[in-house]
Amino acid sequence: MGVLKHYRELLPVTDKTPAVNLEEGMTPLIYLPRVSERLGIKLYGKFEGCNPSGSFKDRGMVLAVAKALEEGKRAVICASTGNTSASAAAYAASQGIPCFVLLPAGKVALGKLAQALMYGAKVIAVKGNFDRALELARDGAEKTGCAMVNSVNPYRLIGQRSGAWEICDVLGHAPDWHAIPVGNAGNISAYWAGYNEYHKLGKINALPKMMGFQAEGAAPLVYNKPCPNPETIATAIRIGNPVSAHLARAAVSESGGEFNAVTDEQILEAQRILAAEGGVFAEPASCAPLAGLLKLKRSGRLPEGITVTMILTGNGLKDPDTAMSQVGRPIEINDTLDDLMRVLEGK
Ligand SMILES: *Cc1c(COP(=O)(O)O)cnc(C)c1O
Repeated sequence: MGVLKHYRELLPVTDKTPAVNLEEGMTPLIYLPRVSERLGIKLYGKFEGCNPSGSFKDRGMVLAVAKALEEGKRAVICASTGNTSASAAAYAASQGIPCFVLLPAGKVALGKLAQALMYGAKVIAVKGNFDRALELARDGAEKTGCAMVNSVNPYRLIGQRSGAWEICDVLGHAPDWHAIPVGNAGNISAYWAGYNEYHKLGKINALPKMMGFQAEGAAPLVYNKPCPNPETIATAIRIGNPVSAHLARAAVSESGGEFNAVTDEQILEAQRILAAEGGVFAEPASCAPLAGLLKLKRSGRLPEGITVTMILTGNGLKDPDTAMSQVGRPIEINDTLDDLMRVLEGK
């Protein structure tokens, strides 16, 4: 039924709010037995790749676009590492309004670019990094009156709280640890707010530790200083100066959690393990939490038996190039049974 309808009581939705809906949310919380065993914990992946545009961004975008329309705005603009633009473009298309997206030139995964273009957005490649594109988008929004739908838009983070509510609704309680990739730091902040809201409502009686994972080359929250030239294959978290840094720091310190950095190599290893032992294909950024859990396990800092939810923020199909650079090629054979048998018998 979509996030606006399902969590109407908890969201700023009124009779005047247009019923925007692409059936986002209600994504599967997948228990991962083989990966759990490897780590000695109970590990669930919330597969946000099942959202309509293939990432968690849809949870907040649906509300941001609905409120923009309610306020009389007739176009949306955003800067994006890819998924925000795909999501904004999808919801704008569904409502028949223009969407302008600013992307760091050459640094967006192929699937995401294809999505924004297919949904009919005006795609603008900025010769600069994400942080610069965001500044430009803000200025452009101010000058034109377009609705700015980056996570500086408060409705984005409010809509994203729905992920935490779904986890609690499914588990019947909060996890011990909540592991999540951190880029612009909106999602970790939204989840923390969501858990706290459920706690206040008495729907859960304990809160999780918030464990935020960044890529080593783009880890301003881990090292406590902006990173002027962020670099990582996990393009969705290639951000050097997170807009919601203050909220994310509060989430981590209030919950007794931590920020941790993982290398690109560790992210790619985690992506393969998640796919080959979990049966779930998530994009590189989404695999930073699993990379982090593996790292904590190796250093003896992962408590035995705890329940961990990790947010698999985006679909692996969005970034086929990175995946294909990691794996082998198909085995080519002639169209004979002999050739096939050689492969099946491992000769
Ligand atoms: C946006 C995004 C992130 C980072 O989320 P923030 O709210 O910016 O911290 C992580 N993974 C994917 C796939 C994303 O699209």
